[in-house]
Amino acid sequence: MDYVNAKGHIYDIQGYAVHDGPGIRTTVYTKGCPLRCLWCHSPESQRHEFELGWLALKCIGAELCEDACIRACPAGVLTRDAPSKRTGTDEWIIKPKLDRTGCTNCLKCAEACVTKALYVSGWDTDVDTVYARLMKDAVFFEDGGGVTISGGEAMAQFDFTLNLCKKLKDSGIHICLDTTGFAPTERFAEILPWVDLFLYDIKHMDSCHHEKLTGVPNGLILDNARYLAAHGGALQVRFPIIPKLNDSPENIAATADFCAELGKAVTLVQLLPYHQAGRMKYERLGRPYRLKNVVPPPEEFMEKALEVFKARGLPCQIH
Ligand code: SF4
Ligand code: SF4
Repeated sequence: MDYVNAKGHIYDIQGYAVHDGPGIRTTVYTKGCPLRCLWCHSPESQRHEFELGWLALKCIGAELCEDACIRACPAGVLTRDAPSKRTGTDEWIIKPKLDRTGCTNCLKCAEACVTKALYVSGWDTDVDTVYARLMKDAVFFEDGGGVTISGGEAMAQFDFTLNLCKKLKDSGIHICLDTTGFAPTERFAEILPWVDLFLYDIKHMDSCHHEKLTGVPNGLILDNARYLAAHGGALQVRFPIIPKLNDSPENIAATADFCAELGKAVTLVQLLPYHQAGRMKYERLGRPYRLKNVVPPPEEFMEKALEVFKARGLPCQIH
């Protein structure tokens, strides 16, 4: 089968993933996404460019490493912070303080930091390199698992994603594509033959609300879901339930109606209760977490929401 060794920009590859489609899977995370969901639990996936991350626990202290990062910074935005106690000890440590407003993202500090307390999120790669890494896990795929390509939005790096799918398909690997659905319909038409299952997010049925919550309207997303369903695609719909943002009875019913409209193409609907698991990642990237005061929905609420989907005969679960 013909494929191109296209370039890609990714930020992670995780083996033994059991929440990204059927069976045991290895998930490739592409970097860059056109949406900005308020609850996004992987903020490092949003921007396409490399990003500077900060893992304070890994810092051994500027005295020990002789100010390696501070000396490396050409913009002078890294300075010594006030001494603080090393976590869980009585020992004092001086860590660097970063003023991100003047940071040029040159990433020289991450290069200089031996402990990777300052690190770069994202790396350039290509289809052959990622394929070789994925095939190391091939033994795990035999029992109904496979590869999931996620993001960010994998469709935003279309050549890389399409050609990786083609190469994997040539080896008989089951492919899931985890997508926001926000990409041109022609691209979904082109990739459809190479994808076994779309993990497809539906976030709000009202376009104005959708735009407020994610930064984009939902028309294209709903149209693409309809297109895939009408052309033989299989969809596992994922509906994140965020208290007070998209959990009204009207929106839950409208989402269930939409899934029912897609018919047999929907193999499963997963209701995903909001959680704050990604909150620390915002700190590492120096970005504000905007849903600090939102708490996960109670179990009884999720069960009631599930009933709405069951009532329409949809295969569904709380995930
Ligand atoms: S961030 Fe890295 S280079 Fe900077 S003080 Fe800490 S360990 Fe040293
Ligand atoms: S990435 Fe920012 S903080 Fe790091 S060396 Fe460059 S300018 Fe300085």
